[in-house]
Amino acid sequence: MGIMDGKVVFITGGTRGIGNATTRLMLKEGVEAIAICGRSEDMVGPALAKLRADFPGRNIEGCWPLLTDATAVETAVKTFVDKYGRLDAACANAGITQSTSIKRMTPAEFEEQININLIGAFYLDRAAGLIMRNQKFGAIVNTASMTGLYGSGMGAGYGASKGGVIALTKSLGRELGFFNIRVNCVAPGSIKTDMTAGINDVAMKAVNDGIALHRMGEPEEVGNAIMFLASDLSSYVNGACLSVDGYAT
Ligand code: NAD
Repeated sequence: MGIMDGKVVFITGGTRGIGNATTRLMLKEGVEAIAICGRSEDMVGPALAKLRADFPGRNIEGCWPLLTDATAVETAVKTFVDKYGRLDAACANAGITQSTSIKRMTPAEFEEQININLIGAFYLDRAAGLIMRNQKFGAIVNTASMTGLYGSGMGAGYGASKGGVIALTKSLGRELGFFNIRVNCVAPGSIKTDMTAGINDVAMKAVNDGIALHRMGEPEEVGNAIMFLASDLSSYVNGACLSVDGYAT
């Protein structure tokens, strides 16, 4: 018995990092079917092939809708749901970051952060929420960031987008709770993925010095939190923002 036994799950940003770790954890915990979504066929294809090789015989699908196109996202989710009959959980995890001071950041760069991180999450939540509303059950888990809670010193667009994801989560948790749909988010701190791979040693020491556990997190440590919020183990958790940051300050 696994905690994801019989669950049908759609996750964006499943090709690598936190999303891929979450997908693997869910497969180990018995998920019935899972769809990973990424930027392009070139990114999704190899990730999908690796997952299918590592978990033979399991229901693993892949897609690459433009996250900023509401109709494309809706179609991708609907295609998956039509095949497996329902949607138990949706995880809006895809995201991009930028580390640019306000002096150098262009309006277009700021908008891109909002478009992918916040509006992209909203489009997935909307597509999933409408299906779940008809079903009268479901769990939505968004990936925010500690910068959404505390701000980011070098990336106002990123921090603003993630603050929006937290407010989006709380708003939808209120609205959709009536339909037996829970909406929660995780707020990761510094996690070892491609997103943080370029951080130099000096900056990394400064980051780690500000974390009570004095280390970065592993993608699986966030994946476990996402999986908890997507599973029935969190059946009375709604509108929560779960920090997964080793207690960052
Ligand atoms: P990552 O760069 O390893 O993975 C990002 C994923 O998002 C990839 O699968 C990528 O294909 C997908 N993605 C990005 N833009 C996309 C687009 N336009 N369309 C479709 N897919 C797209 O990063 P990660 O660290 O695994 O990040 C996952 C989530 O966690 C993001 O929302 C990120 O903001 C958040 N987060 C990460 C950290 C960290 O320290 N790594 C900290 C806080 C929050």
